[in-house]
Amino acid sequence: MFQIFQSHGSLRALGRTLSSGLALAFALLSLVTGCSRNPTREPPRQKAGPHPVIIFDIDTLRADRLGCYGNPRPTSPVIDALAREGVLFEWAFSQAPTTPPSQASILTSLYPSAHGVKGKKDRLSQEITTLAEVFSDHGFATGAFVDGGYMNRGFGLLQGFQTKVDRRGGLEEIGPKALNWVRDHADEDFLLLIHTYDVHTPYDPPEPWRSQFLEGLAPPSPGFEPTALAMETIRQSASSDQPLTLPDNDVAYALALYDAGIRYVDDWIGSFVAELEALGIYDRATLVVISDHGEEFQEHGSVLHEKLYSTVTRVPLIIRSPLALGGSQVPDVVETIDLMPTLLELVGAAAPEQVQGRSVAALLRGEELGPKSAISESRFFGRQRAVTGASQRMIFSQESGRIELYEYKQDLGEQDDLATRDPNAVSDFEGQLSDWFEWMRATELAASEYGELDPEVEEQLRALGYLD
Ligand SMILES: [Zn+2]
Repeated sequence: MFQIFQSHGSLRALGRTLSSGLALAFALLSLVTGCSRNPTREPPRQKAGPHPVIIFDIDTLRADRLGCYGNPRPTSPVIDALAREGVLFEWAFSQAPTTPPSQASILTSLYPSAHGVKGKKDRLSQEITTLAEVFSDHGFATGAFVDGGYMNRGFGLLQGFQTKVDRRGGLEEIGPKALNWVRDHADEDFLLLIHTYDVHTPYDPPEPWRSQFLEGLAPPSPGFEPTALAMETIRQSASSDQPLTLPDNDVAYALALYDAGIRYVDDWIGSFVAELEALGIYDRATLVVISDHGEEFQEHGSVLHEKLYSTVTRVPLIIRSPLALGGSQVPDVVETIDLMPTLLELVGAAAPEQVQGRSVAALLRGEELGPKSAISESRFFGRQRAVTGASQRMIFSQESGRIELYEYKQDLGEQDDLATRDPNAVSDFEGQLSDWFEWMRATELAASEYGELDPEVEEQLRALGYLD
């Protein structure tokens, strides 16, 4: 496997060689080895040897576009297999619908209101302790291989990583470097963060992935391509007098390319897992699949990501680990700020006092935890907040006072607003939100301020569609 990877030197070549065969082999292997919960087997425990912890942070990956979360298209055979070997959190919610605040929450276990990273002008305060800093202090080698843009080191989110690679180029650029780093650290405890925008706009994965889900679709409208600029123009028009909307077929076309991008990333993860196996470290590794937010495809009148509907805030969270009971699906609501304390518990490191998430390591072991609601925040659309409970979720727009209430597990598209029909539920959620605001007011808020942007980073952000 390693020879193939090296001799071709590019993900596209690797993909052509391995794409379906590798994913299929890995999926079949998993089917044989670890599909279902076996209550009689030994409790999970760490294998002898160093503990590799690897986070696949796939920017803009909407949970329900993965096969294991219900997409009928074969977008994710490898991630599906990881889910079967590990624990799939069915209802994981991100703290924000956009990259800077959400990624900062994943890496600090703080709500956006507490870490203060909202957008382009913000740099994470150095006073805040990051996941990587705790791992580093705990004796782990730490490496971040990220896809630039808002993950560029200038924004401070990579604080604590000893190795930082943050140039744009997607997995084709990042992947081989991350793999080389793993090879250098294979005999150590390590934390590796791999982040990519390959699923983000522009929806333009390379062939042979690009066209694989286009069959049966009519061609898009003349001149339409779902570039970052085209989609951002549509998004920005939503609040204007003349909102733009895409015809249904163009939405389907964009979604097919988005799904193809997921399959591209999934195949890459398959090749990476094969390398971990070849290095002999897969069995003792903890692997995480997570995203910072999903993506809208006009379900609520717009595109991209900024609102707090489940299309944007429900994200995949899969943890495959020797410390987790394989083959489990957890129905509890969890938050992406829960990842940091969970991983710290898994490696036996104490969580810093600042942490606002809670460890869900007990759920990984098949034990119970009491219910907890998730809170998401958006600075867009009149400063929205969402509270997600066990069966319903409320979205509150602070400026307009509008309240929406959905039975989000039944009404997956969140089309049937129950707010006026269920005032008791609204009242309960308002109480929870009020308590949360009180908590945030009592929290010492961080001064996260960026100042001037590096011109190169500014250009990367423009290429991703972030215009101002
Ligand atoms: Zn993002």
